[in-house]
Amino acid sequence: MSINYEAGIKNIGDTTALKAAFERAEKGESLTIAFLGGSITQGSLASEPSKCYAARVFAWWEKTFPKARLTFVNAGIGATDSQFGCARAAEDVLSYNPDVISVEYAVNDMSTPHYMETYEGVVRKLLSAPNKPAVYTFYNVCYDNGSSAELMHSRIARHYNIPAFSMQSTIYPLLLSGEIENREITPDDLHPNDIGHDMVASVITYGLDKIRKCEVCCKAENSKAEGAQASSGDDTSASICNDASGSCNKLPAPLTANAYEDSVRYRNKNADIISNEGWTADTEPQNHITDIFKNGWTATKKGAKIAFKVSGSCIGVQYRRTIKLPAPVAVAKVDGKVAATLDGNFDETWGDKLCLDTLLDHGKGGEHIVEIEIVDAPEKSELPFYLVSVIASGNPKPLFLKPAFAHTIWGGTRLREDYGYDEPGDDIGECWGISAHKNGEGIVACGAYEGVKLSELWNTHPELFGNKAADGSRVLPYDRFPLLTKIIDAKADLSIQVHPDDEYAKVNENGSFGKTECWYVLDCPENGTLVVGHNAKDKAELSDMIKNGKWDKFIREIPVKKGDFIQIDPGTVHAIKGGILLLETQQNSDITYRVYDYDRLQNGKPRELHIDKSIDVITVPAKSASDSIKSFANTEANAVTEMYSCKYYTVSKVSVDGEFNFAIDVPFLCVSVLSGEGQLNGYKVNKGNHLILPAGTAKVELKGKMELIISNV
Ligand code: ZN
Repeated sequence: MSINYEAGIKNIGDTTALKAAFERAEKGESLTIAFLGGSITQGSLASEPSKCYAARVFAWWEKTFPKARLTFVNAGIGATDSQFGCARAAEDVLSYNPDVISVEYAVNDMSTPHYMETYEGVVRKLLSAPNKPAVYTFYNVCYDNGSSAELMHSRIARHYNIPAFSMQSTIYPLLLSGEIENREITPDDLHPNDIGHDMVASVITYGLDKIRKCEVCCKAENSKAEGAQASSGDDTSASICNDASGSCNKLPAPLTANAYEDSVRYRNKNADIISNEGWTADTEPQNHITDIFKNGWTATKKGAKIAFKVSGSCIGVQYRRTIKLPAPVAVAKVDGKVAATLDGNFDETWGDKLCLDTLLDHGKGGEHIVEIEIVDAPEKSELPFYLVSVIASGNPKPLFLKPAFAHTIWGGTRLREDYGYDEPGDDIGECWGISAHKNGEGIVACGAYEGVKLSELWNTHPELFGNKAADGSRVLPYDRFPLLTKIIDAKADLSIQVHPDDEYAKVNENGSFGKTECWYVLDCPENGTLVVGHNAKDKAELSDMIKNGKWDKFIREIPVKKGDFIQIDPGTVHAIKGGILLLETQQNSDITYRVYDYDRLQNGKPRELHIDKSIDVITVPAKSASDSIKSFANTEANAVTEMYSCKYYTVSKVSVDGEFNFAIDVPFLCVSVLSGEGQLNGYKVNKGNHLILPAGTAKVELKGKMELIISNV
């Protein structure tokens, strides 16, 4: 029997953390070695605990590092998957402050996107532990057909650059070739016997030993890798870190929707129970990680009801299915609607099973009420239904953006001086606060997607923007992020300009969007004005005025004040005049036709004009001046005041004084803080911040004294 051990090393990854652990062990320091996984990790079908692969790998540590003071933590629980792994990793593994963690769920999870997501959750949770443990993984295999979740799991292992070892590539080929018979190593084609456990351990320790002896070239591998444990030393992005915890995550951006990493498991120690009729809390202490039917609730009578308040977009319930038939049956409701039937009966012989059923799968985040009710109970039976826990996860987190800046001949210094943006120069014209446009791209400032461009996020994580159906297809009618929010500081006059509509831009501007925009005046000098519209009565007069430079007659200047709102439809002649500071919300487009530039020179030359295209698209006659402007200077405090809604966007102003919450039901919400400071959904925000609340955000919870502009499609 010859195992091809080399074939078992599927991914060497970044070995820095593992090598540091080896070095410390060599010096005789204390280390905790933990194993997280399912029944094979727990040691089922090994004749005694010491024969389990986990114990054998631990024995390798003891033998290899005789001076080290080593502690063994076996956190395997039979018949559980990585979804439960996410929920219990903190309590069952990280609470021991392990230095090295082995994680294994390849025959507990299936090879599906759901399990890729839950597995990513557990890997991220382990990697982001404050003591930065070394994490490696391996893949067990079903010995009758070679199946496992290795395909999905290995994508995650490569993405996070963690070492990974495979039984499918080492032990399984021996069965295929007939070198060994299945029953020599496994009684049920799933769980190894003592010989099988020994083989599994040998594949893992072969890989660990190679890394220890530095026989696999980690340096070359590491420099190629984009991944996690690799240091993020080249990250120079100055932080706009509004994470309340202040701990920006340095892992790579998630591959999946990553709705399980933040799993919280509610048991009777920590649950928020809002009503209870007939359920008893089981407060007997849990003695061991595998002592799983503890700290939950029991009920025996039909009609017994218990309701919890939980928070998340994914909700699961754990309960016992018992082989002592007949047992009661319950239903689980989320927000009053039946989500699952929980049958306490288990028609098997191998023992009581801990079930984890899904009640809500990537729904709305935020608060939900989960109610469990016994709907069927055998008469004359004292056997209770055992409710183990409710697990919730996946609360959407705001995406704070690092803006891009445009330097222009008419720009000034107020974006730095008034808004605090760290941008040099005395010609800063525009802050592109929420932008996925190539001419000024926003980058996520902190959190799981730190460093990712908004345009890339739009493409790789459509679920964040409510743009992914259950079958994976796109649901919004946009091929790119549709909005753009800017703050504009006009120290001098902007050119007189006009934008085309979608139809005209599509034909004449390489398929670009047209541009509908609107302005909210943030600051304005006394007697400040904006150019909105023109004075030509018909197309002939328009053409004459433009071609013959009759600007005094053509241009319509209208007085404005701080707090005014102006909608600029395509075809509207417009210009921002010197001294005005405003926030612009617009379609994601940068197509501008310049009509007149006051005969100014830039680098000794006049800027290009677009006379013919302008005459093509300008609306004649213009909308009346009084219809163009509306004041929102003094909007009601703690209210959402809609300023304008058209087919491209809805833009509203929110004034906060104290505390104010409102529900939202939009694909995503763009938020810019105009003034003041406070908190938004628990995150610190202040003047000049721009962020997106992703899909699934159910509520905006505001505290403090501030003004915001929000927009959505
Ligand atoms: Zn414009």
